[in-house]
Amino acid sequence: MLDVLIIGAGPVGLACALETQRRGLKVAIVEKGALVNSLVGYPTNMEFFSTPELLEIGGYPFPTSHYKPLREDALDYYQRVARDEKLTLRLYERVLKLEGEQGNFTVTTDKGEIRTRNVVVATGFYDLPNPLNVPGEDLPHVSHYYKEPYQHVAQHVVVVGAKNSSAKAALQLTRAGATVTLIVRGPAISDSVKYWIRPDLVNRIAEGRITAHFNTCITAIHPEAVDVLTPDGPLTIPTNFVYALTGYHPDEALLGRLGVEPDPADEARAPLFDPATHETTRPGLFVAGTVCGGRATSRWFIENGRHHAQLIAAHLSAQAFA
Ligand SMILES: Cc1cc2nc3c(=O)[nH]c(=O)nc-3n(C[C@H](O)[C@H](O)[C@H](O)COP(=O)(O)OP(=O)(O)OC[C@H]3O[C@@H](n4cnc5c(N)ncnc54)[C@H](O)[C@@H]3O)c2cc1C
Repeated sequence: MLDVLIIGAGPVGLACALETQRRGLKVAIVEKGALVNSLVGYPTNMEFFSTPELLEIGGYPFPTSHYKPLREDALDYYQRVARDEKLTLRLYERVLKLEGEQGNFTVTTDKGEIRTRNVVVATGFYDLPNPLNVPGEDLPHVSHYYKEPYQHVAQHVVVVGAKNSSAKAALQLTRAGATVTLIVRGPAISDSVKYWIRPDLVNRIAEGRITAHFNTCITAIHPEAVDVLTPDGPLTIPTNFVYALTGYHPDEALLGRLGVEPDPADEARAPLFDPATHETTRPGLFVAGTVCGGRATSRWFIENGRHHAQLIAAHLSAQAFA
């Protein structure tokens, strides 16, 4: 019987595991994909917005040769921390449901059952994209995840969205030699785009290297074109590939099966939890990291979410050794 099972081996799940393990509790992490799976899925050579010390967990220094770490630096860092702390990892095992009560939970996965006294849900939000809900969205040349520009050189690419991910993708694709059309639902590039990225994109649009359509929605996707509705009427834009970078949301069905109750007063449907301990309304069930923000996926990130680990670990160890 474990003292704590952490669901999700992202940066915050790892922080929860090492903080609870260091306090003498018997801990394991169950992860449906690879170690730090979300970061594995981020774009190649993606530069973090945060400086390295703000991404550190467990007091391990995060040395990098650049001002901001790259995805590859962060993967090395978190995977080394997991190794050095000798965390017990059950990778490529998906959690399906939770039964029982604090002190005697049974977690059912696609590979079997795990018995544990407490459960921490650190499942993030990166698995479920916000859909465009238009015909053709499931065609093979449409993706909600941008990786790198090289397969799109000398091709037409439509990028949907006006936040950081779409801004960075549009710039990188353009510089690699793709012809980029940006489709933006609102009237401008979002003010939330980082201050060193936004002017770059605005200037590339102003000089005509990137075509941008504002106040515009995609209405259908075809194998070699997209239909959009602009303020001046409908338009068909030829394209070889579509990146719909319109954000992601947490797996609310899974949260429901685990017994995490959403806050009815919160528009983002964030889980109801005690901010001092991160315990939800189901005793023995905790939430940590980005999942704490519900659909407000930028409310908690690594910089601020990593601190949930100490709160949860302090509470659980006080309870275990009372
Ligand atoms: C492009 C990009 C750049 C970013 N840059 C920064 C930055 O500079 N600074 C910063 O602080 N934050 C940044 N963030 C946000 C940050 O990456 C996330 O907030 C962070 O990954 C959250 O960590 P987490 O551990 O809560 O969740 P995640 O890292 O998302 O981990 C959740 C894990 O749970 C697993 N999981 C989900 N469901 C199940 C299941 N049923 N069973 C088992 N496992 C499951 C997933 O596979 C995943 O590995 C960025 C995000 C993106 C997308």
